[in-house]
Amino acid sequence: MPSQHLHAALQAVADACRVTRLVQRSMGRVREIVKDDRSPVTIADFASQALVARALTGRLGPVRLVGEETAAYLRAPEHSAQLGATVEAVRGVWPDVTKAGLLDAIDAGTGEPVDPFWTLDPVDGTKGFLRGEQYAVALALVEGGRPVLGVLGCPNLPADFSRPFTPPDPVGRIYFAVAGEGAYEIPADDPAAHPVRMVRPEPEAGQPVRVCASVERAHSNLDVTGRVMAAVDPSHVLIQIDSQCKYAVVARGQADVYLRLPTKKGYVERIWDHAAGALVAAEAGCPVTDIAGHDLDFSCGRGLERNRGILCAPPSIHARVLAALGDAGIR
Ligand code: AMP
Ligand code: MG
Repeated sequence: MPSQHLHAALQAVADACRVTRLVQRSMGRVREIVKDDRSPVTIADFASQALVARALTGRLGPVRLVGEETAAYLRAPEHSAQLGATVEAVRGVWPDVTKAGLLDAIDAGTGEPVDPFWTLDPVDGTKGFLRGEQYAVALALVEGGRPVLGVLGCPNLPADFSRPFTPPDPVGRIYFAVAGEGAYEIPADDPAAHPVRMVRPEPEAGQPVRVCASVERAHSNLDVTGRVMAAVDPSHVLIQIDSQCKYAVVARGQADVYLRLPTKKGYVERIWDHAAGALVAAEAGCPVTDIAGHDLDFSCGRGLERNRGILCAPPSIHARVLAALGDAGIR
């Protein structure tokens, strides 16, 4: 893994964290835009994708970037106000940005998932973002069907575990990992800071198991999560948090499990919702599989077609949850 790739990805995510944070803080000007599939997207999603594409191509030359967004919406003449707002949003990081330059940068992220490729969720957890809560900027390089570099920006996540997740932290954290080389943490406002290695402590015996799940009930089956976790530990504690921050919270030892159970038959998880976070967690010592215990397979295009759900936890707890899923007939 050339360090140039890592430095480009860290700068890209730091730029996107800075701008999305400003947009979120000026919520009055954030207009929710509804996509065809009814999932929300805001000017922060577009700004973030443009900045990440610009930072990667500026440092690495042309890259294949599979982002969640396209510029089609902003290119429509009736959406010129949103285009203008997005240009203004990125100007703090990209002073000489033009409308055409911005649109092209967003569309530089519409590559095909042909190995090797980068994948980006420019604002993961948009619903949390809109509530003024946690969200993530998630960028990964995928090679050979698995993430080999992951950078997870968590602009609102406090470093201090004793602090609640809301209100948002003024600095935030960036977590990153290179396959085989460990996971690291830096402050979100300083991509050149000295990285601190993350080593997931083993859960303390006798303490309640802390399980992370989505805030949005449509994204994860919380009733079944409660039943399965009750079998693992009747006194387990549920921690609800939006976005891939869930992977970070498990990787850093603030929770013990990230369990994502499908709410509807046939839902296929998106690669950009997991590539960066899963590598960070795995490199910190928390294996990530689907709910059948299979490795995540990033070689099937934009979806994890061969997987269902997500289970991430330190090895001992991972095995216990997998067994409970089996006993409950869910695997
Ligand atoms: P979370 O922050 O855990 O609520 O997850 C946010 C992600 O859930 C979004 O980026 C969406 O891609 C994804 N998502 C949307 N619909 C569903 C669904 N029905 N099941 C699981 N994930 C979904
Ligand atoms: Mg997402």
